[in-house]
Amino acid sequence: MRENNCIFCKIIAGEIPSHTLYENEQFKVILDVGPATRGHALILPKDHYRNLYELPEDMAADAMKLAKKMMRIMTDKLNCDGFNLVQNNGEVAGQTVFHFHMHLIPRYKEDGEILKYIAGHPEGKELEEIRRTITE
Ligand code: AMP
Ligand code: ZN
Repeated sequence: MRENNCIFCKIIAGEIPSHTLYENEQFKVILDVGPATRGHALILPKDHYRNLYELPEDMAADAMKLAKKMMRIMTDKLNCDGFNLVQNNGEVAGQTVFHFHMHLIPRYKEDGEILKYIAGHPEGKELEEIRRTITE
């Protein structure tokens, strides 16, 4: 299952070079060419799914298991101090490549604020209204 003109499908097919950290039947893990920090990597399913909405549940579970495995290995080898998992869905959420991927971002003391957002201050009634919207 591949999509023409998808850069990650081309990487998986070996048509575009990549720095591969790990590979199994379902996934390939490569270094990001525009890394936020040293060792920033991407988990790519070998089949093309646009985003997490489209990814089958069992593959989502397997992607998270692989993220945990990679996080442990990378933390050990890179000697990083923490780790972010980032996964963007949709242009508005910052997705630029529309082939599902999970970012593995090693974090180091003093690497700066690379994923900062501004916290809102909603009142309790607004949170309650949101809770009802989602759950009812
Ligand atoms: P996102 O913004 O979540 O869609 O992330 C896409 C990521 O893919 C970015 O961090 C890019 O730096 C990365 N990227 C784009 N092209 C390549 C490539 N050929 N090899 C490795 N990473 C890439
Ligand atoms: Zn693809």
